[in-house]
Amino acid sequence: MLSGDVVKRFRISDGDDFRLSDIDPGDTLGLDLEKDEAKELLAAGTKRLADLQERLYAESRWSLLIILQAMDAAGKDSAIEHVMSGVNPQGCAVTSFKAPSTTELKHDFLWRATLPLPGRGQIGIFNRSYYEEVLVVRVHRDLLDKQGLPDKLVGDDLWRDRFDSIRDFERHLARNGTAILKFFLHVSRDEQRKRFLERIDEPDKRWKFALGDVAERQLWPKYMDAYEDAIRNTATKHAPWHVVPADNKWFTRLVVAATIVEKLEEIDPNYPKVDSAALSAMVEAREKLVAEPSDSKSGKSN
Ligand code: ATP
Ligand code: MG
Repeated sequence: MLSGDVVKRFRISDGDDFRLSDIDPGDTLGLDLEKDEAKELLAAGTKRLADLQERLYAESRWSLLIILQAMDAAGKDSAIEHVMSGVNPQGCAVTSFKAPSTTELKHDFLWRATLPLPGRGQIGIFNRSYYEEVLVVRVHRDLLDKQGLPDKLVGDDLWRDRFDSIRDFERHLARNGTAILKFFLHVSRDEQRKRFLERIDEPDKRWKFALGDVAERQLWPKYMDAYEDAIRNTATKHAPWHVVPADNKWFTRLVVAATIVEKLEEIDPNYPKVDSAALSAMVEAREKLVAEPSDSKSGKSN
């Protein structure tokens, strides 16, 4: 597993001086791991994560919200698949945020994100999120028009207002026991091109190819500006961003896994303690169970 120092390297808890250009999508911190080595290291991380998740679930006090944002083909889906591979599905849910439905458009932009929030003991993964509201919606003004907001609320302050709403929302969640980790998987435009070509060229990957993604990449600089501004305005101590180099998938997964493990270690969930009254009741129950004749002896069977 990667150390906490690595995690800190990519964490933005205060966005004031953040510049996206400071993070190189190809960075691996000088690590050059063989496939097997990276796999082994990740396996150690996911094992630790699974153990901590079980305790989070048993303790049922804290929730963990993990937000994943990225350009297409940056590896969100595969990061979820690999990093969460060992966790108990009962304590974890993934929600993918697509273009909003008619009903969703009739509500405020955070409305649809509230129901899938993780309950106590749960890990909730948002594959895209309400951040799309200051990303894709900012890049495509026609999407904003579709939202039907009253004209007088659509002014120059709209994006500032949305950042305020997001910061307030996350502060509220944090105050109520939801830990928040936000990831931007930062892939380069060149690497995205390579991955799109692979999707076209390899028959088993063709299902992942979407024509629209090629048009979207033409808007790359606009997206990068929107991401930078969103991160600058919403990176906080209780809901930090992690801008993770994503040109090397093995490195991305290691950083994401280490970041989640670090957070869970900080939460330090414990199995609930059994008090003495409950323990006496258990001892009594145990005696009864031991004293019960077994089905085979009493001749009963199911
Ligand atoms: P993959 O391509 O790996 O399946 P994806 O997250 O790109 O995953 P898609 O179905 O391709 O999933 O895309 C979902 C689309 O929905 C994205 O283009 C995203 O920008 C868009 N979207 C998400 N939230 C909103 C929103 N609030 N308003 C408008 N568009 C949104
Ligand atoms: Mg897509």
